[in-house]
Amino acid sequence: MKTCDKSLPGLIEIYDKDNLKTFVSLYFDGKDEHFIQHREKVIQHILKYDELKNFLKTINEIKTYLKKNKGSNHAIFASDKNNFFKAITFPVNVKNSLVVDVSPYIHQIAELADEWQVYTLVLLNSNHAKIFSFSCGELNTEKDLSADIMNKHKKGGMSQARFQRLRKGNIHTFLTEIVEALQKIARDNILLAGPGETKKHFRDMLPIMLQKGVIAEVNVDMDDEYGLFNETHEIMKEKGKQEHQRLLELIRIEILKNGLAVYGLKNTLTAVKNGQVEALLVEKDVKQKGWICERCQLIEEGILSICPACGKKTSEVDIVEEIVKIAERTDAIVEFSQDDNLKKIGPVVGLLRFK
Ligand SMILES: [Zn+2]
Repeated sequence: MKTCDKSLPGLIEIYDKDNLKTFVSLYFDGKDEHFIQHREKVIQHILKYDELKNFLKTINEIKTYLKKNKGSNHAIFASDKNNFFKAITFPVNVKNSLVVDVSPYIHQIAELADEWQVYTLVLLNSNHAKIFSFSCGELNTEKDLSADIMNKHKKGGMSQARFQRLRKGNIHTFLTEIVEALQKIARDNILLAGPGETKKHFRDMLPIMLQKGVIAEVNVDMDDEYGLFNETHEIMKEKGKQEHQRLLELIRIEILKNGLAVYGLKNTLTAVKNGQVEALLVEKDVKQKGWICERCQLIEEGILSICPACGKKTSEVDIVEEIVKIAERTDAIVEFSQDDNLKKIGPVVGLLRFK
């Protein structure tokens, strides 16, 4: 499944080389400013020395940014010490959270990316077409085409039959133009929308590969783009859900025959570290305490303050988040699900590339 991953690569690689909690990750709905004040106060009481100094500078940079960019949903990852600042705006609501850690907290953004499959939408009638592409939570108009098609009612002179033939020919030429444009933009995850029968004619004209890529047809007026986007979003969400179920079913079959699957935190962690995981399914909103030694790149479940390998101080981490990060680094597909079956064998399961 193709997902939005524009913002992830830069975030999964970085961490504080001195093992200090200097990365501030803020997910903010743009409304509840009280939330930031409250978290800021609590965190100030806990951090000390360089970590505190860095936090105060970083949170000020973030607040300055928010003042200039009011009202939207944001994810901001920043560290004054590491000279790092990345802000992403979302069209959907994010859950407020403010985390200070050795590296950016990417869990929520990975979840959102999973929900946002890339898709292409063609809105058309017989004389107007718009092709939109949706990726990373953003909708872009790729093409806006219109044709000078003769009005349905003939004007004097021409016979009715001749008029109809010409009109049909014009529409056909126009639809061919749209097919050509679409071929350059998309191969799969295509949605067709618009009033009446034109989208059906259009579908029939598509090359067979593109026909297979059409996942739905939506009946909608040309000017109801808002309603259309809501509906397509729901269609894609449902499609994602079905894909999660299929993936989970595949993993269960593999587990039963002791084949190419892994489940549970410990085994999944080992498998992602070995680059074995092809697809990872993660239970939504789950966290699990663990520790990391950034020096040895040793990660384990549970609580341990001194690394058994090198004797240095470890950092506390969320093991689920670490598994997601490593999986993203090894190009695994990462998906999030609330499936009850996953709760029983999870919170993480993976389909393996090899054993
Ligand atoms: Zn170590």
